[in-house]
Amino acid sequence: MSKRIVIIGGGISGLSIAYWLYKANADVYVLEKGPEAGGSMESHVETGFLFDRGPNSGLETTPLLQEMVTGLELMEEFVYASTTGNKRYILRNGTLHPLPMSPGLFLKSKLFSTKAKLRLMAEPFVGRSKDGYYQSVAQFVERRLGREFLDYAINPFVSGVYAGRPEDLSVKSSFPKLYELEEEYGGLILGTIRSIRKRKKRAEKSKQSAKMFSFKSGMQTLPRTIAAKLKDRFIPLADVQEINKANNKYILSYNNAGAVKHFEADIIINTAPAFVASPLFRKFDATLSNHLDAVYYPPVLVIYAAFEKSTIKQELDGFGFLIPEKEKRGFLGAIWSSVLFPGRTTDTTASFTLFAGGARNSQIVNEDREKAINTALREFRVIMGIDELTDPVYLSHRFWSKAIPQYTIGYIEHERYFDEFEKRFPEIILAGNYRGGISVGDCIKNSKLTAEKALSRLK
Ligand SMILES: Cc1cc2nc3c(=O)[nH]c(=O)nc-3n(C[C@H](O)[C@H](O)[C@H](O)COP(=O)(O)OP(=O)(O)OC[C@H]3O[C@@H](n4cnc5c(N)ncnc54)[C@H](O)[C@@H]3O)c2cc1C
Repeated sequence: MSKRIVIIGGGISGLSIAYWLYKANADVYVLEKGPEAGGSMESHVETGFLFDRGPNSGLETTPLLQEMVTGLELMEEFVYASTTGNKRYILRNGTLHPLPMSPGLFLKSKLFSTKAKLRLMAEPFVGRSKDGYYQSVAQFVERRLGREFLDYAINPFVSGVYAGRPEDLSVKSSFPKLYELEEEYGGLILGTIRSIRKRKKRAEKSKQSAKMFSFKSGMQTLPRTIAAKLKDRFIPLADVQEINKANNKYILSYNNAGAVKHFEADIIINTAPAFVASPLFRKFDATLSNHLDAVYYPPVLVIYAAFEKSTIKQELDGFGFLIPEKEKRGFLGAIWSSVLFPGRTTDTTASFTLFAGGARNSQIVNEDREKAINTALREFRVIMGIDELTDPVYLSHRFWSKAIPQYTIGYIEHERYFDEFEKRFPEIILAGNYRGGISVGDCIKNSKLTAEKALSRLK
């Protein structure tokens, strides 16, 4: 009899892993709590408006993405973002400044002071740090690039990617490539130049040069299509609540619309969030459970608003804008969704996705939702040159009470323990966005490695 692999969680991690295992003819099943595939990927369509409530796009950092898109016959659905999206804005003193993307533009940019520019140029002469592992992103960046670059480039960037704060995140765990540049080459500028050659060999792209992608019907297209391919191997409405071991098999008990059902597995791959996995594995290893419990997920409020184009004074010539914490605003930034991809809104409107909360404003959990939405919209209108009395033509929102895992200082201890646990329990694999990267691209990149790990442990 073939051995069975059961994946907990039908987000992009779980389904990408299932995709490779299915292709390898493994006996694989996915148990998903929700009614549909996707997890954080939720694409909601209503009367001509497409609202991606989680990720709006991914970065094509791995060739595995195209392998999957071709294998799933999604070539017609796959879309790259318009090149207009290469321009990104940062808010400073109430004005949107383009983030300079070349040395020439950097020198001309009004986003940074002359002092900040001179400080950045000194980067190749800054030495390595001694306590690299336990350094925050803020410490690392301030030391190498200066305070102003931290405040007006990295702070908004970290909030755009992680909904996090550079003071809280570990540079080694959150931005391993950045950390490696210093470790390997002694600096970021020198390292970036030298590492390009290495990456080319692996056919991988850096996050700066990778193309942004989505699908005509939104990001959820990818997990939905994998789930459809898996047919009855994808089991929705299966809320895993308990795992027991008997006769060398794992028995997963799940709640299915009020009824408790059981499922047998030889190998379990958990891709459900860390706070879900924690109680499931407590009886096997209480320390693992504590590590999983300690992973912090801040809340994020995502607001989708469409306005008549004629009411917007700001030129829509970019990806959108991010707001540095120093600017003290009620939201984190906005993506100009309909500029990036086709089919996001109606012909006469432009649509935007605003983000609020995050680790910066985690008290949003307790705030009145309507008030938080109104604050963000009021400030957004001012920045975009939309009259304060103009209402959005369409407005929708999604609140994630625990949105994105934060790879905080000391995360390396969790990562080390995950490795240690897997050595003692080789039939349990810990995967998902709390391990090895939170971006869609990282989840896909890691999926094949996880699938190979599972296949090797079947033997
Ligand atoms: C608002 C937001 C915006 C984002 N924007 C971007 C972006 O623009 N670009 C980018 O690259 N990344 C972005 N990310 C990050 C990225 O989308 C996620 O890290 C990634 O989609 C996570 O995938 P996952 O499969 O690891 O986890 P999840 O998507 O969280 O999937 C986990 C799955 O487990 C299921 N589950 C939970 N409990 C159980 C249980 N007991 N039994 C069975 N199943 C269970 C859940 O229902 C879920 O489907 C964003 C994330 C959020 C929340």
